[in-house]
Amino acid sequence: MTPEGQALLRQGAAELGLNVEGQLPQFEQLLDLLVEANSRVNLTALKTESDIVLKHFVDSLSCLRGGHLDGAGLRVLDIGTGAGFPTLPLAIVRPEAAFTPLDSIRKKIDFVRAAAEALNLTGVTPLVGRAETLGRDPEHRERYDRVVCRAVAALPILVELGLPLLKPGGLLVAQKGPISDEELHAGRRAAGEVGGRVTEVDAFTLPVLGDARTLVVIKKVAPTPKKYPRREGVPNAQPLF
Ligand code: SAM
Repeated sequence: MTPEGQALLRQGAAELGLNVEGQLPQFEQLLDLLVEANSRVNLTALKTESDIVLKHFVDSLSCLRGGHLDGAGLRVLDIGTGAGFPTLPLAIVRPEAAFTPLDSIRKKIDFVRAAAEALNLTGVTPLVGRAETLGRDPEHRERYDRVVCRAVAALPILVELGLPLLKPGGLLVAQKGPISDEELHAGRRAAGEVGGRVTEVDAFTLPVLGDARTLVVIKKVAPTPKKYPRREGVPNAQPLF
């Protein structure tokens, strides 16, 4: 990573209240791995160092706002992790948590696994699959303290995919761009249907770039009815609200 890239990462993290000095070598290694893998397989549209640092690394770290991912031993599922975001940056700064990054696309999970091994992120257990399938699997249903997701789907869809996987009292932390009143309203109604309640809507701007982001936090306050999640593809094709 160039000194400029390092400075952006330091500044972005500092604006989020984080000091990443001790983790700079891991972020540098992740950048190198991502750039190298992306030259062979199409993993992410972001190619430049500053884009990767700000729009992948710092953007992922913004999921830590509010402290919802603090606490020893948390089991965190990342639905639709793609090339490992937000999991990999989060696992670098929260090595005490156990992360399960999930994606339906094998080549993406192959990269996440290789990167986690190279960075010695022993708390990361990547998984190929669909959230709908996991949500019906007793090994995964109601097994997670937190579900995170970034840039995966509209809120009512995320709610149907995420809530079945949470333990009672667990939190879905959805990182999104600006969210419309309509999407939020639909998300609130969907949450009610699957045992959740929106507890926080945190609108903020991304460090350095100033792009609008929203962290929506939904708490599991009641068991999710057995009929959810519906079968593969249905939550997307026919959102609850
Ligand atoms: N979260 C990553 C990020 O922010 O860079 C990737 C975002 S990408 C736009 C969405 C990813 O979600 C894709 O890799 C896709 O394969 C995955 N995905 C979408 N629906 C899914 C589902 N139901 N189960 C598992 N993965 C899913």
